[in-house]
Amino acid sequence: MYTVVGGGIAGLATAYRLQQHGHQAHVYEASEDIGGLAALYETAGDPLEKYYHHLSKSEETIVELAEELGVGDRVKWRIGRNAYYVDGVVHPLDKPWEILAYPHLSTYDKFRLGMLTLEVDVRGGIPEMNAYETLEAYEDVPVKDFLLDHASRGVYEQFFEPLLEAKFGDRKEDISAAWLLGRIKFRGERDPLRGEILGYFDGSFGVLLEALVDAVGQENITTGARVTDIEISGETAPVGSPAGITESGSSESSADEPEPASDGGDVIAGRDASDAPSLVNDTESSEVTKANQSGTVKSVTVETADKTRTRPTKGVVIATMPNVLESLTGYVCPIDFQGAVCAVVTMDESLTDTYWLNISEDVPFGALIEHTNFVPPKRYGGEHLMYVASYIQSREERLWRASDEDVRELWLEAIADLFPDFDREAVTQFRISRNPRVAPVYERGYLETVVPYDLGDAVGEGVYYAGMASRAQYPERSLNGGVVAGFECADRIDHAWQTRPPPAWAHCSRSETACKSQIHQSSPVGRAYLIELRESLLPRNGSSRSASSTPSPASHTRTKRKAHGLSRGRRYEKEDTQQWLVRRPVVLVMNGRQFEANHRASRFSRIQSSVYAHRLTAVSAS
Ligand SMILES: Cc1cc2nc3c(=O)[nH]c(=O)nc-3n(C[C@H](O)[C@H](O)[C@H](O)COP(=O)(O)OP(=O)(O)OC[C@H]3O[C@@H](n4cnc5c(N)ncnc54)[C@H](O)[C@@H]3O)c2cc1C
Repeated sequence: MYTVVGGGIAGLATAYRLQQHGHQAHVYEASEDIGGLAALYETAGDPLEKYYHHLSKSEETIVELAEELGVGDRVKWRIGRNAYYVDGVVHPLDKPWEILAYPHLSTYDKFRLGMLTLEVDVRGGIPEMNAYETLEAYEDVPVKDFLLDHASRGVYEQFFEPLLEAKFGDRKEDISAAWLLGRIKFRGERDPLRGEILGYFDGSFGVLLEALVDAVGQENITTGARVTDIEISGETAPVGSPAGITESGSSESSADEPEPASDGGDVIAGRDASDAPSLVNDTESSEVTKANQSGTVKSVTVETADKTRTRPTKGVVIATMPNVLESLTGYVCPIDFQGAVCAVVTMDESLTDTYWLNISEDVPFGALIEHTNFVPPKRYGGEHLMYVASYIQSREERLWRASDEDVRELWLEAIADLFPDFDREAVTQFRISRNPRVAPVYERGYLETVVPYDLGDAVGEGVYYAGMASRAQYPERSLNGGVVAGFECADRIDHAWQTRPPPAWAHCSRSETACKSQIHQSSPVGRAYLIELRESLLPRNGSSRSASSTPSPASHTRTKRKAHGLSRGRRYEKEDTQQWLVRRPVVLVMNGRQFEANHRASRFSRIQSSVYAHRLTAVSAS
């Protein structure tokens, strides 16, 4: 059983893909609901994300996933109209004539801006097409320097600077040109006559989340369950090897409890997770105690409202923010994260006819995003829904510290200042969500700091990362990026499983000395005690066929099916070649059951005679 930490889109996608590869996976989600940053509010019609969400045309993996899960037809591509509020006027900026009519950029600035978005470098007079293909080349270039050089001062000051200010506040000068160029590519397709084409699920992104939950299986997801520790043993073994299963540290669960299937580990199925701890995202990193561990992941500790359990696991995918990664493993990710305060304002009437309104004024929010100018209000029982959002760079900021009531007052007043016709009486509901970590600050040199998917070298074998600090979430974090990150981890786990070294004993001759040396060379699983254990199990006087043979993968499968021959003399050799993996502390994994070698002899009576059990006990004690 693999463990997935986090029930956001990345965690669910990880579990789904692992299952597709034939592995078992269990998702633990700290909060009561799955979805993470894509969690939902109810409305008079369809549910709505607490934070605004849409898809860009360039995001293909999530659309393919939706199709695979049978909800592809729910993705609708709509026009999301953009505008810029400057000096009391809303300027639409979608169609060519709207851009030409925009009064706050000169014709020259518009030309330079146009060339930049088409990725044409016109410096020096000879246009260079596809000039910004290699984003990495701009990783260390400050975005301001880049824009002054590759566009114009007007483009920077009149167009980009207010947007950068709204998104990154006083961190804007730290941002890399690579991020901006990546964002321009990321935006995807535009309809030249209508505007930007954006995707949204009829019924919200909850449709995709629900389809994922159905595919993964409710019984494989536990909400209200926070992973609080990952135990990494000091020894190494091939990733994905059942050798990673050892005894549980929990009084509740023991290593030889029945497993749900042959994949090892166990689950807390269908647990009622009410009253469990709230979002871990909101907690500070706990004390780092385990940095730079090496070894193999062994177990996870999961806290629910009523108990704490330690579960054996074959591997862990951490699909959440890097502060949680750090608290669980000691891996320090230097990426800074921004927070957000975001309100969904429910209104009787529309405020503008724009979906996304950027604002070039000194206002206490970054943008107004009128969702029902993108998805028709009839899907929400006629309600008009608008997001008001602001990123937070520091928890000392006034907005972060303000009460919900104060935020409401501040924002409604500011909207009224911008739009004198705004009727506050039209506001029927004002719901606020806050999260201290919603997006990375894409500083210069960002790519060097992303967390690798496979943390085998940095943390321990079997530890993977699919959270927002992963490569897939660059140049912009997104749901698609979460799916890609989850898939990347699951594919790596499966690859490691497929290509794991053959069990050491598969290479053994019957000479104990030769076996020992071969084992040491061929596999980290191999230890002298392994062959001693094996020798102690094999009939010493028999002419063993399997002892000198190396089973092919096909014969592995065949022998695996012969599951009950262990107690009948030499036949158990066949089982031995397939089913037994041994590591310290000595544990046998056989037919999905595991046995500790240092248990009482009676434990092994179903394997072979007490003589063998006795020898096992002796081996484990050595
Ligand atoms: C304001 C805003 C606007 C956005 N706009 C868009 C958009 O337009 N389009 C788009 O595609 N994306 C958008 N996103 C980004 C998108 O929401 C995220 O990229 C995506 O949801 C990240 O998913 P995730 O699974 O990686 O992380 P999360 O959604 O953060 O999920 C992680 C989960 O892990 C859980 N967790 C944490 N610690 C533990 C623990 N110890 N044990 C168990 N569980 C734990 C958390 O409770 C959480 O549910 C936006 C996000 C925000 C905030």
